[in-house]
Amino acid sequence: MGRGSEKDLQKFSICGCPGSQHEEEERMSGSEKRSGLTRRGFLKATGVTAGATAVGSNLVGCVFGTANAEESSEEEIAGYGVCRSNCMQSCRYAVHVRDGKITRLEPADYGEDLYRGSCLRGMSYMHRIYGENRIKYPLRRVEGTERGAGEWERITWDEAIDEIAQTFSGIAEKYGPQAVVFDFGTGNYGEIQGQTGIFNRLGGVMGVSKPAGMNDLSTGYGIDRVLGTGLMYFANEAKSVLDSSHIVVWGSNPVHSTPQNWRWMQRAKEQGTRIITIDPVKSATAMKSDEYYPIKPTTDGYLALAMSNYIIENDLQDTEFIEARTTAPFLVRQDTGMLLRKSDFEELPEGVEDEFYVWDPEKKTAVLHGTVANPVLEGSYEYEGIAVTTSYTLLKEQLSQYTVADAAAETGMSEGVIEHLARMFAEGDAISVNISFGMDHYNNGYQSCWAIAILMALTGNVGRDGAGFTGIYLNTALNLNIVGLWGAPGFKGMTTAFPMTLLHEVARDQEYNGEPYPIKAMVAILSNSASNWPSQTNYLEELLPNLDFLLAMDMEMTDTARYADMILPIASFYENEDFRKAHNLPYIVHQDKVIDPLFEAKDDVEIAGLIGRALGYTDAFPAEYTFDDYANMLLSGPAVEAFGVSLDRLREEGYIELRTEPGKPGIVGRDKFPTESGLAQLYTEKPAPRVMYGQDVTERFPKEHLVYYQPSAEVSERSEAAKTYPLTFIQEHTRWRTHSQWFNSPILRELDPEPLFKMSPEDAADRGIVNRDVVEVFNDRGHMVVQAIIDPSLPKGMTRMPKGWQRDQFIEGGYQELTYPHNDEWSVAFNFYDTRVDVKKR
Ligand code: SF4
Repeated sequence: MGRGSEKDLQKFSICGCPGSQHEEEERMSGSEKRSGLTRRGFLKATGVTAGATAVGSNLVGCVFGTANAEESSEEEIAGYGVCRSNCMQSCRYAVHVRDGKITRLEPADYGEDLYRGSCLRGMSYMHRIYGENRIKYPLRRVEGTERGAGEWERITWDEAIDEIAQTFSGIAEKYGPQAVVFDFGTGNYGEIQGQTGIFNRLGGVMGVSKPAGMNDLSTGYGIDRVLGTGLMYFANEAKSVLDSSHIVVWGSNPVHSTPQNWRWMQRAKEQGTRIITIDPVKSATAMKSDEYYPIKPTTDGYLALAMSNYIIENDLQDTEFIEARTTAPFLVRQDTGMLLRKSDFEELPEGVEDEFYVWDPEKKTAVLHGTVANPVLEGSYEYEGIAVTTSYTLLKEQLSQYTVADAAAETGMSEGVIEHLARMFAEGDAISVNISFGMDHYNNGYQSCWAIAILMALTGNVGRDGAGFTGIYLNTALNLNIVGLWGAPGFKGMTTAFPMTLLHEVARDQEYNGEPYPIKAMVAILSNSASNWPSQTNYLEELLPNLDFLLAMDMEMTDTARYADMILPIASFYENEDFRKAHNLPYIVHQDKVIDPLFEAKDDVEIAGLIGRALGYTDAFPAEYTFDDYANMLLSGPAVEAFGVSLDRLREEGYIELRTEPGKPGIVGRDKFPTESGLAQLYTEKPAPRVMYGQDVTERFPKEHLVYYQPSAEVSERSEAAKTYPLTFIQEHTRWRTHSQWFNSPILRELDPEPLFKMSPEDAADRGIVNRDVVEVFNDRGHMVVQAIIDPSLPKGMTRMPKGWQRDQFIEGGYQELTYPHNDEWSVAFNFYDTRVDVKKR
């Protein structure tokens, strides 16, 4: 059992106690206190969980973590683990067990104090383990009943595995292995038992389809244009904000969605850092900021472009940084739009890196970058008969169309505020932007993020202490040996021909790009795609009816499990051993197996082995292989050994720090950016869609060289939908659920009992709606019937609903029926927030 440091077990850290922030939110919303945590309610809620008598009961002092020596002691700590929720904060817990049952989850140490965090979700996880929604046995839909009717028969594991093997073999024989789709959800971020773990080994030997690309990575896709970070590696370590003069929280709400990041921000604020929030919603984070600026949704990109233009017009840019660390002086060929390169004039031997030309002001000729101390930043020239212009000149011309006056009209902000923000970016010592996934969920999200990255580069606010993006920090220091785990004997690979956003169309048409592409079965692996993917109608009416078999593997009865033909019960975080290369923290952390799987649940290692062997893949899944064998595959190779990471050490120490520069926070581009030139790119030479799926990119290609603003597809005031549906609708992240995880946690439902539709006082009054009225929210795609809450923090025209609810928790319909079904052909992401609706009283 890895114990780490156990000092200070009597105190705990919590991101939001119900006595403080919940009340604050109620005050913000102006709503009546709807279901505060009462002692009666608390006891009732905890009463449904086995062993709940040992849970603390000091309500205001935070219900889950109150250390009461009479109730729980250090001796009852049976192990340590890590929350593997998709909130990505990787909180570590000490797990108290009494009489074989988990009674308490207590925040445990990492190497630094503020990484010792938690939230009510993590602390109440045992309520999910012992909750009424727990799937106990393998279940099969009763023959002849409708999917979703809730008619199940209990079957044995042997029966289940036999049927799964027969079904998959039959499909593979008739249609090919790609006719089975693996849908990897985000319900578990363990390395072996989770999303990137052993089921990828199974999918690889089977040769199944795996839809390409995660579904919501527009943020990274936009930032990558400038910083070259790929889709997920754009953020600095959370503690980097201690070196920031300003933190701009732009379209995110870390108080709720990334609470451990917020704790670092609070500490920075105590040291004098100013926090500025730009958001359409007066969020909990906005309320705690030094400055808050509302903006019309989806216009963030315009704001950033106008600020950049203002900065250049007023000579406020960081010229020294631009010259040294960006591609500003690189010459762009006017004939092709490509950068002028050494390879334009000579053939380079294989393996020799290409080089870029800049203009030498003394010699008045193009020279290779790095051979002249002060290349020109601006101008157009001719070299060897080729007309060229500097990247900086092209960017400057592009930005000139975005004026502060126009930005004020587009964003709804005043010109004075825009100029104030521009000057702050230009004059602040070190600005970090907390960005996360707010803008990501709009159709024009990547352009917004791209524009903010350009603003950051022009003002020198990337690649140094306290400057850059924060959000979800992924540690690049250690690469686990994925090939070792996934590349089993007989490995065929998983087919990633089409993106997740098109799965329903491929299933509906049984073809892709004009060629037959049969899809007959899907395996939802800790994935609640029925609930979480936008446009639920696509899922229910185009995907499901075209599947012969839907297998759900989950620990709880989610929407997806309800629509399945068979369900396999999967072990919880604390019922198996695992480890996680912590998202957001510079550690790899171990998970002890603290209790045995309840009922007939099994862990991923066992289930993958059973299915693999039943399909005949005995070399990939030998009967004698255990967790240790697979873990050692992932923890092998020089990269892992360089850090001295091993399973034995993880078991012994609990967590291992992963830093390349001891004592320094991880900063993206500290030495150089991960671009071809090592510099921040102001011009995208070879733009490419995030996922290629046969779309025609030729028309957009020239436009994608330089950052630009594109009104969003549906939320934009100029959209067709705006003529019919006056209200924009976002499904916001909430502190009570991570996507749909914890959807039925009894204690959290005491705090947030049901789906509530929030609207502004003006919009409600226009429709004669008062607090708690039952309303129908609708658009062309679907509807939901819920109670309405009047929310003064919302501007007129904007509505919101905390996300994560299941269909049976609505009075009728569901919020995911309403959401936007298409994707931008370049960012290829789900655009949940790009949704318009109207509402009427029921
Ligand atoms: S849900 Fe997130 S913040 Fe809460 S305990 Fe889990 S990892 Fe930590």
